[in-house]
Amino acid sequence: MTMGGVARRLRLGMVGGGEGAYIGGIHRHAARLDNNFELVAGAFDVNAARGHAFAAASGIDKARSYGDFREMAAQERLRGDGVDVVAICTPNHTHFPIAEAFLEAGFDVICEKPLTVTLAEAVALQAIVEREKRLLGVTYAYSGYPMVHEARARILSGELGRIRVIQVEYPLEWMATAIEAGGNAQAQWRTDPKKSGRGGSIGDIGTHAYQLAGFMTGLKVESVCADLATFVPGRVLDDNAHVMLRYEGGARGLLWSSQVAVGHSNGLRIRIIGELGSLSWAQEQPNELVVTPLGGVTSIIKRGRADLSAGASCRTRTPPGHPEGYIEAFGNLYAGFAEIVQARIAGRELLPIGRDVPLAQDGVKGVAFVDAVVDSHEGGSVWVRPAYT
Ligand code: NAD
Repeated sequence: MTMGGVARRLRLGMVGGGEGAYIGGIHRHAARLDNNFELVAGAFDVNAARGHAFAAASGIDKARSYGDFREMAAQERLRGDGVDVVAICTPNHTHFPIAEAFLEAGFDVICEKPLTVTLAEAVALQAIVEREKRLLGVTYAYSGYPMVHEARARILSGELGRIRVIQVEYPLEWMATAIEAGGNAQAQWRTDPKKSGRGGSIGDIGTHAYQLAGFMTGLKVESVCADLATFVPGRVLDDNAHVMLRYEGGARGLLWSSQVAVGHSNGLRIRIIGELGSLSWAQEQPNELVVTPLGGVTSIIKRGRADLSAGASCRTRTPPGHPEGYIEAFGNLYAGFAEIVQARIAGRELLPIGRDVPLAQDGVKGVAFVDAVVDSHEGGSVWVRPAYT
């Protein structure tokens, strides 16, 4: 894997991701994978005592375990060896104040999706990023997979011809019953509009599917028409979403996100049909891309082959046959974020790993998509043009 000429590892701070949290642990694995980052500070939990206990168990210097993210931003700014980059691994409603505090204090930021709970907040963050010339990486994890980059390269090269149809789905089972009422903390904030935002399944996982389709094809959505459903009694937000999409150039899309899809676990998959061929990719078999030319033979293209695109090759660590998966894809995003920061510090051109990485504008598009979908549904499933695409 080609990495930048890293003079030293970047110092990473983390907000959220403490004991029992989900995505923080994935970030920590991803950050370590290529030796680009060292975790040195954090405000790991909404409960300060729990956060300090987690920091102690993780070997973080006691002086750099913070009870509050604002204190962390203020203190780290004063240090000669303060953090370079802060990873935000907290529920959606906290992303804006945390990202704002660190970006305004001059830090680079990696933030979870959806970027914010309102579009105004997302746009405000992008404005700060542009003013401060900082990184705001958004962890749309699936665009870190090598074979997703391979699909993008093939589509952008014209291999499929003009794109006609995009079918993308993200079904999950884990919220098929009211687990939030039984005390599941992760389901509790995801079903609370004040914490999750206007979208339920559409914000939580539909945004991944939307970003994946746009990333692979390079197409912008012109308008969306949505039918949202809330199947589990007592919920306010959607737990199932069907969305029709009209893309620029005439392509049509269909997106399904569901948190009540019994029998499915992270079953993100996409099929893209063009005039000259089609391809499909599924995150449960991420090392394979299935490609069929018009009237031709279906091929399974495997990760690691020597003739794959530069975008796929630079994100590949092991030879074909040794599976790579979710952690490696997440690691590719972290490698890309590290490269962006290191290239800026060194004043040099970006290496390929730092290109085609999800940034602030992608976060804004994701929040605009959720807004458009909910507006469409609330308006009686009318066609709505997202404010940013
Ligand atoms: P979680 O409930 O498991 O963990 C949240 C953590 O944040 C907890 O440790 C909590 O104590 C901490 N926290 C909350 N408020 C805080 C504050 N003000 N200061 C410090 N810590 C605070 O949540 P999760 O499932 O890990 O989701 C977190 C975020 O990650 C969400 O935005 C979610 O959408 C996103 N996510 C992304 C992916 C992906 O593939 N990119 C996957 C899952 C979750």
